[in-house]
Amino acid sequence: MRATVIHAPGDIRVENLSEPKILAPTDAVIRTVAACVCGSDLWDYRGINEVARPTPIGHEYVGVVEETGAQVRDIKPGQFVIGSFFASDNTCPNCRAGYQTSCLHREFVGGCQAEYIRVPLADGTLVALDGQPDEKFVPSLLTLSDVMGTGWYAAVAAEVKPGSTAVVVGDGAVGLSGVIAARELGAERIIAMSRHASRQRLATEFGATDIVAERGEAGVARVRELTGGIGADSVLECVGTQESMRQAVRATRPGGNVGFVGVPHDVAVDGQELFFSHVGLRGGPAPVRRFLPDLIERVLGGRIEPGKVFDLALPLDEAAEGYRAMDERRAIKTLLRP
Ligand SMILES: [Zn+2]
Repeated sequence: MRATVIHAPGDIRVENLSEPKILAPTDAVIRTVAACVCGSDLWDYRGINEVARPTPIGHEYVGVVEETGAQVRDIKPGQFVIGSFFASDNTCPNCRAGYQTSCLHREFVGGCQAEYIRVPLADGTLVALDGQPDEKFVPSLLTLSDVMGTGWYAAVAAEVKPGSTAVVVGDGAVGLSGVIAARELGAERIIAMSRHASRQRLATEFGATDIVAERGEAGVARVRELTGGIGADSVLECVGTQESMRQAVRATRPGGNVGFVGVPHDVAVDGQELFFSHVGLRGGPAPVRRFLPDLIERVLGGRIEPGKVFDLALPLDEAAEGYRAMDERRAIKTLLRP
């Protein structure tokens, strides 16, 4: 089968690999309908994460079940399925508490930019649709596998409530999805921090009421100005750098909350500052599985269209160009079709 492999920073190749097989009786193998390139894949592509050996890459997927292991009960061959980037049993105490990405049996689902994928713990990980979705829904359904679920978690973790004010730090696909989430959860005012015209437009289309182009201390000052000098009720941190985290904490009002979903790279939080800020922090790898049934309904019902974050669609064989376009910020997010 054709599969995307990262060999070294900047070196993405599509190669012939052997098709995945059922290894455990709880596995499923799915035929990928669509996959995509994640902002977090760029950490490897840019050499910020080490690439020690050639590694199949990608962790977002929708597809049709080809085969299931002997112990899989609910998921059946032929079903159109979506799953998270972490496999989870959906039955352990952490899963039952809604934190499937801390499942006691979690396994990363990697190598998804490929024609076929092995998904462990299929019954717990995958959610099947009734029938095959209309083609027009596929990009939006694909976002539920990570970015839209992650943006949703950022808003939930930041405790966005009806009538509240939310700030979204980061204008990548997760940040833009966070704007959708904040709107759906009832935020009255949504301040998107972005300085790219095309992303500002999409943020506005998704429900942002204000755009702040300034960054760092100037960005914080602008948010304070827009919120009567107090700061926002909820801030969604969707980048993962020291600057974005500091900006998020300082843009939040006392008693407000930061939801942080950008994978932190060299981020330190100042204990003294946090103590005196009265700001609550919750983050981590989004338990996307928790939100899948609800988000699938919102997509199929036409309430949300997060698939608009894909501004580039390529055949799988052109994955390398998809990475380049995102690295150079020519594209927000690349969809890949096997
Ligand atoms: Zn679990």
